[in-house]
Amino acid sequence: MDYLPISKVNTVAFCPRRYYIEMLLADTETNHHVTEGQTLHDRTKRVGEGIWVWHDELGLVGIVDQIKQEGEELVITEFKKGYLADHKSDQLQLCALAMCYEYSFTTPQDYGYIYYHQTRRKQRVDYTPELRHEVYEAVDLMKRLERSTSYPPITDNPNKCKGCSVKEACQPSLLRKKPSHWNPTL
Ligand code: SF4
Repeated sequence: MDYLPISKVNTVAFCPRRYYIEMLLADTETNHHVTEGQTLHDRTKRVGEGIWVWHDELGLVGIVDQIKQEGEELVITEFKKGYLADHKSDQLQLCALAMCYEYSFTTPQDYGYIYYHQTRRKQRVDYTPELRHEVYEAVDLMKRLERSTSYPPITDNPNKCKGCSVKEACQPSLLRKKPSHWNPTL
């Protein structure tokens, strides 16, 4: 069985087209956002806090950045380089990590944290049934995109494209131009 990286749950939730370009066309253009993120993860692994987790049913595998005792619970923290906001894709990635941790170590997970380096603040995320269901939906979409032979459409949120690592391959600006740009008689 092939396992998909947990981090790609974040990618597909952020923009299915980006997932498609990165994973299926192997277009892994690196920009400073990706590089900074990798440095962050390498540093985390050096201090010995990276733990491999997996989920045979979801078909996911990845690394938990940090897990610490908090009261009676073992609580996961995922580190991000950006700023604190309501980043749904980050929440889904964290929830997917927690579901994989539960599966790997048979240890229930109720909540976790996302720590944003840019603002040095962390956000608590509760693993609600709705969030867990969205993880299943994201994984299902990843598997469908693997079989797909056509590009998903561009995102309807142009702000997402500003720092996108596959922007050159995607060309969202061209695709957003109105038909009259290409044919002035329209
Ligand atoms: S540039 Fe925009 S539409 Fe294209 S893959 Fe990135 S986020 Fe998605």
